[in-house]
Formats: sequence, structure tokens, C-alpha cells
Amino acid sequence: MKILLLGGTGEARRLAAELLPDHDVISSLAGRTRDARLPVGALHHGGFGGVEGLSSWLVDHGIQTVIDATHPFAAMMTAHAAAACSALDLPLLVLRRPGWQQQPGDTWHWTSDSAAAAALLPALLAGGRVFLTIGRQGLAAFAHTGLWTLARCVDPPDPVPTWCELILDRGPYEPAAELELLRTRRIDVLVTKNSGGDMTSAKLAAARELSIPVVLIERPPLPAGVAVARTTGEVRAWLTG
Ligand code: NAP
Repeated sequence: MKILLLGGTGEARRLAAELLPDHDVISSLAGRTRDARLPVGALHHGGFGGVEGLSSWLVDHGIQTVIDATHPFAAMMTAHAAAACSALDLPLLVLRRPGWQQQPGDTWHWTSDSAAAAALLPALLAGGRVFLTIGRQGLAAFAHTGLWTLARCVDPPDPVPTWCELILDRGPYEPAAELELLRTRRIDVLVTKNSGGDMTSAKLAAARELSIPVVLIERPPLPAGVAVARTTGEVRAWLTG
């Protein structure tokens, strides 16, 4: 089967390797991450040009099925894939890893987006120290909290913010290192997206151990009616079923 695999995640890379022996797979990346980890097999780099561009691309390349294995917060790409597949009557499956689940000892505060998370901070801590692990896109919402802030991103934001300290790093992160980071930087609150998965979850265990509250940004909703798999195994089963 000829498949477009929308990527940008570890699962997408794993899935490309798993599907390649049996299918004709083209993976696609937005192309904005420097030194991105690349999947095996054929690759499309960069956007498609909205729903219209994606629809034309799918027809031109004879794609029979689309697997959307983008990050849970890549809502625009997911919406475009749903709209294009619906218009062309193409099968679409979204691979979505489960979100993180609160555990005993966690103090979690749920918010809808970066702006809501930033608005919550003054009520949670007076003059405390914030650790943002939300990527670079939502950072600007925190510029005016007046709180000392450490932000961790894979690539530097453009422009580089002057109102926070920046760590450039990418997972997977180890529990002992996350604990050390929260301790040495004297972090009082952690802000994160509910990305799910193992690669970046160690910070949650570290926050639990240090009794640090966590502000979690909820995932954007999926388009109505799309089929969803939670694992690469479920995707393979869906393709053969
Ligand atoms: P987005 O807001 O949903 O998408 C913005 C635009 O980028 C899309 O309309 C599309 O451009 C292009 N695009 C996004 N993903 C693409 C893909 N896999 N292949 C080709 N074009 C793509 O996406 P985003 O949140 O900026 O994320 C961009 C990429 O980074 C995604 O692949 C995602 O999996 C990965 N990522 C995102 C996050 C996050 O927190 N958002 C975290 C880790 C990894 P056109 O309209 O021109 O087609």
C-alpha cells in the first residue's frame, strides 16, 4: 500500500521502520527542527500548503492511506490531514500516544493553553521560579509573568527571549538528571504540555519527588470521527485488518 506517514515524533520513526518491509511509505516532516532525527525510507520535507496543497500532493503521489503520527499538539497538521482525507475519501488513521496520568503525590493543575497556564502562575506562587518545558511556540505567553523563568527547548526560539534563561536540549531525559536540574535551579513550579510518552516524562517523577506543582496544558481535541491508534502495533493491525 502507498502510505503518507506524517511524522515528527519517535513513534513515526519507529512506525516507518516497521511498515517499510510491507508498504511503500513516504514520511513527511515539517522541516523546522535543526538536525532532526530522520526516519528510514522516503522523505518529504516541509509543509504541503494547507488542505488544498495536501490534497493535490496526495493525488499526485497516488497515496492510498494517510497515517498521522504527528505530535499530539500539532493540531493544524492533524486538522489538514482530516479535511484532505475526507474530501478525497482516503482512509486516515491518527497514531496518538496516551497522555500522562496523574499519580499519588502529584499536584497537577490542568489548563487549556499557554496563555491560561501563564495566567495561573501568579496564583500558584508568589515570586517563585518557573520551569517551562512547552517547546518554543507558546513561550511568548509567559513573557510578562514577572517570575524568574527557565525554559527548555530543542531549538532556540526566534527571536531569542531575553526575559528567561534558556536550555537547549532534547530528550530522552533521565530521572536523576531531571531531579538534579529541578533542585539546582530551585524550581518551584513546572509547566508542560501533556505530550505523553516516556522520552520526556522523567520531569514529572522529579516534580513528584520534590513536591513541586505541575501546570499541564491539555491536548487539543482531535477532529471529529477520526480513527485513532495508540501504538504502532495497533496501526499495523489496522492496516492488515
Ligand atoms: P502544526 O502547527 O500542526 O502545523 C503547522 C504546519 O506545519 C502545517 O499546516 C504544515 O504546513 C506543516 N507541518 C506540520 N507537521 C508536518 C509534517 N509532519 N509534515 C509536513 N508538514 C507538516 O505543527 P507544529 O505543532 O508546528 O509541529 C510541527 C512538527 O513538529 C510536526 O511534525 C510535529 O509532529 C512535530 N512536533 C511538534 C511538537 C509540538 O509541541 N507542537 C512537539 C514535537 C514535535 P502546510 O499547511 O504548509 O502543509
